[in-house]
Amino acid sequence: MITLENALNQGRAVLKEKGITDWDLDAWYLLSYYFQVNRTQFIMHSQKEITEEQLNFYLELIQKRSKHIPLQYITGEQEFMGLKFRVTEDVLIPRQDTEILVEEVLKVSGGKDILDLCTGSGCIIISLSKLGNIKSGVGVDISPKALEIARENAGKLQADVTFIESDIYTQVRGKYDIIISNPPYIPTQDIAVLMEEVKDHEPVLALDGSTDGLYFYKNIIHDINLYLKPDGYVFFEIGYNQADAVSELLREAGITEIKVKKDLAGLNRVISGRLKKTQEPFT
Ligand code: GLN
Repeated sequence: MITLENALNQGRAVLKEKGITDWDLDAWYLLSYYFQVNRTQFIMHSQKEITEEQLNFYLELIQKRSKHIPLQYITGEQEFMGLKFRVTEDVLIPRQDTEILVEEVLKVSGGKDILDLCTGSGCIIISLSKLGNIKSGVGVDISPKALEIARENAGKLQADVTFIESDIYTQVRGKYDIIISNPPYIPTQDIAVLMEEVKDHEPVLALDGSTDGLYFYKNIIHDINLYLKPDGYVFFEIGYNQADAVSELLREAGITEIKVKKDLAGLNRVISGRLKKTQEPFT
């Protein structure tokens, strides 16, 4: 007879042997996902009999993880801001650090028209639409495959968001109260040294910020006056060492009230600012 506990032990052994850092936790997550059990249920039913077919299916998931496929691409889901998002290898897996960006925007989002550039899975704009009492939300991405996932997420979560296929602003019309982006910001040459999970499985399009990592910030900020209303806010997620460079770009574009917010690890993670009110002509 094979039990749930036997399955977990086999899963743990395989992942440990293959050198997966979080082997213990990952074997548990996949068990919990496949058999739909939480910790308490597992403790109560660890001796429950499972079929050989079930065991093999679980071990197939374990095999995938042993090849460094991220857990989230195996289960097809990631929680973000308390909401469940579908993810595939066409979108970046939403990160906990990005919740800091959303939380900052939530402080001012009420009644606002919001534009989210490089939306990926749509996690940022969908969360704001669900939690931020916003007036309207638009998500933009260059990848049609990412937009398919974003639209699916909005549908499932019943979020009223419009998605547009566009290379940054090319298809964007009108002006917004808030522009946000967590763009690809890793310098091209740094991608090769990232974890296998990231560099071999997450879309390079969602990671690569060109040689200096600043490609998207430069382009978004360059034309921001055309798409941001006077007094409007801009929020970016940034790499740990990009605060100075992005501040400078913002300042040059007439953005004031520039603030940097750290993540839980104490690294600079979110930068925000506000477009100056246009000066009324003196009469
Ligand atoms: N905006 C999405 C996210 O934060 C995608 C980001 C990206 O693809 N660089 O998850």
